[in-house]
Amino acid sequence: MTEIKTEILFPKEVISRRVGELAGRISRDYDGRELLLVGILKGAFIFMADLIRGINVPCRVDFVRLASYGCSSQSSGKVRITKDLETPIAGRDVLIVEDIIDTGLTLSYLVKVLREREPASLRVCAFLDKKERRQVPFDADYVGFTIPDGFVVGYGLDFNENFRFLPDVCVLHDIA
Ligand code: 5GP
Repeated sequence: MTEIKTEILFPKEVISRRVGELAGRISRDYDGRELLLVGILKGAFIFMADLIRGINVPCRVDFVRLASYGCSSQSSGKVRITKDLETPIAGRDVLIVEDIIDTGLTLSYLVKVLREREPASLRVCAFLDKKERRQVPFDADYVGFTIPDGFVVGYGLDFNENFRFLPDVCVLHDIA
């Protein structure tokens, strides 16, 4: 039988401080403008909820849901939208909010699709970034933490729909 063990990588106090810093930077960068935050479901919902409450420019919100074909914990390369935006984004300042960048395939796809809709600006804010795992070049404009390879859960991130509720970001370890 396999027991799954979690180990804290970022405790909630550290997360809270860093999300506050990101929100401050975003507020300064978008001073005098109105933002549309586009959250990628489901993983980004907690990060986005904390981020938006620290941003002090007017924000609207919308969500997309994306699916990648293949197994649940890794991208296969083929991404599609399963729930699209409800808001037209032409002429708007759009900030995509993502939980984690791994291969870069999901965000490269979404950025390409949204750019075709001609927003005034389009940037990406990712809570976590596993830079060394990229299969396609992709840099986010705002990153919470850069982390090494390893599977993380908590603060909205799941493993088979479990662990999203954990307030800390944890690494999963399989113990045989
Ligand atoms: P990418 O297209 O960049 O490879 O994949 C990004 C998506 O893969 C994330 O939105 C997330 O759903 C999933 N993912 C990648 N690494 C992890 C991880 O360490 N933990 C969790 N929970 N999901 C991950």
